[in-house]
Amino acid sequence: MLELQGIGIGQGVAVGRVLRMPEPLPEPVDTRSTLDPDAELARATTSMHVVAEDLEARGERAGGTAQEVLEAQAMMAEDPSLIDEVTARLHKHQTAERAVFEAFSAFRDQLLALGGYLAERAADLDDVAQRVIADLAGLPAPGVPDPAEPFVLVARDLAPADTALLDLTKVLGLITIDGGPTSHTAILAREKSIVAIVGTHAAAQLADGDEVIIDAANGIVLVAPTDKQIADARARIAARAARALAPIGPGKLADGTSVPLLANLGSADGAERAVALGAEGVGLFRTEFLFLDSTSAPTVLQQQGEYERMLRAFPGKKVVVRALDAGADKPLAFLNDADEENPALGLRGLRALRASEDILREQLTALAEAAKTTEADVWVMAPMVSTVEEADYFTTLAHDLGLKTAGVMVEVPSAALMADRILAHTDFASIGTNDLTQYTLAADRMLGTVAGFQDPWHPAVLRLVGEVGAAGAQAGKPVGVCGEAAADPLLAVVLVGLGATTLSMSAAALADVRASLADFTLEQARHLAAAALSADGAASARAAATAIAHSYTSSDPSSTAPTVLTHPERGTQK
Ligand code: PEP
Ligand code: MG
Repeated sequence: MLELQGIGIGQGVAVGRVLRMPEPLPEPVDTRSTLDPDAELARATTSMHVVAEDLEARGERAGGTAQEVLEAQAMMAEDPSLIDEVTARLHKHQTAERAVFEAFSAFRDQLLALGGYLAERAADLDDVAQRVIADLAGLPAPGVPDPAEPFVLVARDLAPADTALLDLTKVLGLITIDGGPTSHTAILAREKSIVAIVGTHAAAQLADGDEVIIDAANGIVLVAPTDKQIADARARIAARAARALAPIGPGKLADGTSVPLLANLGSADGAERAVALGAEGVGLFRTEFLFLDSTSAPTVLQQQGEYERMLRAFPGKKVVVRALDAGADKPLAFLNDADEENPALGLRGLRALRASEDILREQLTALAEAAKTTEADVWVMAPMVSTVEEADYFTTLAHDLGLKTAGVMVEVPSAALMADRILAHTDFASIGTNDLTQYTLAADRMLGTVAGFQDPWHPAVLRLVGEVGAAGAQAGKPVGVCGEAAADPLLAVVLVGLGATTLSMSAAALADVRASLADFTLEQARHLAAAALSADGAASARAAATAIAHSYTSSDPSSTAPTVLTHPERGTQK
């Protein structure tokens, strides 16, 4: 039995035999073309067009986020500057295959050099190039194998076109060797609830027919598992399926304490599914996702339309809208296109908005107008706030422009440590654990080499969450959590134990978190939190909380923990 580490997407478990994605097409040889450049150009543009149309058609079949991704890929296939690059190479008498290969590779390298969100699109471009070259060579497009039996797919990384159309009656789970938690593979897998684990470098050694268990919750792949491990995994699969069928009610603890469960959304497209999965509102509307491709700032009217679409999906419900979070992994050309040495520590979030205050004012105005025309309870918050002065600036401006509930995200340790002072100026706080972890552990969230530090279970992160929770309780103001940590069912309980009053996550995680909260009372959640806070590191915090959780769920659910580890300075939180 062998255990491979990766980054689990969601909480699923899958058992099955491996089938590897076929290797990519070989690099086209660099020989002089026997055709004239115009004839080669006709071949190249025809194939690029065929591929664009095929991607468009796949997008229409898939719908949702997948459609957006595939349409973006279709545009790459016929991008005029790429065609110019190809043409220039054809005039040097390259074959169409070689010219396409070289032109796409050059663009891909540029994306990789830009890093962050754009670098993660490099795999999308590679896939388009492979499809065009396959069409030129008269070969089938590279893609997912289609055997008679269900299987676990192992791939270096999966193109959006393949992820979007995976036959879920055949593909039991997905393991990728490359790719990070924000790659398109991960985003689409999360949206389609595919059991997946990405960035599993050691999976390169898996061979067709190997039996594996994918345990996404724990980020591991077990190779050649024992019978007992297979039986345990099957029991977890059955329990999860039963939970998915359970009636959907509001989020609450075993003692009835209400913990509203909200959805993280990037556009109104996911709203219907989120409502169907029981989202009680939106805890994080990432408005910058609407404008990632815009070169100029969106107009007030354009924004108002987008915001109204989202708000209309949640009548009478809370929708927390985040002001544009530009910078680092989410560059917005119209807000900050400066070349910064350390963009995560640069002019991002509220800092960038303040530097272009007109854009911030227009966004808040558009939102206030949208709020007037719908019945949603609109809250607004600023990203990447690091001082009390910034918090006061933002909430005052939002109130002045007609938004009645305004707050800030707590993503920077300074904001967590000053939460009591910040909450004196704001209506609420929402903890972004993705960035809070990045800044607390000084580990770039986009960098695979330091991914091991990016664990929100780390007691340093939890202590900061506890500071904010305690400040919220003291001030009588809501404290939400909207980072990925809220989607981890056991960590969600710990966050509530630390004082979080609402949790917001990708909609696919709602069922698991709802079920987990229902297993514990508030007192028990506080015991779990105290145990995690007392640990030395992320792994031991998780282990301590798991052990105590197990002692509750495997015996009398109303019992208290046999041994509660108390934090030397804080004691257990009551
Ligand atoms: C976070 O940082 O936790 C967060 C929710 O914001 P984003 O992931 O969009 O930076
Ligand atoms: Mg953030």
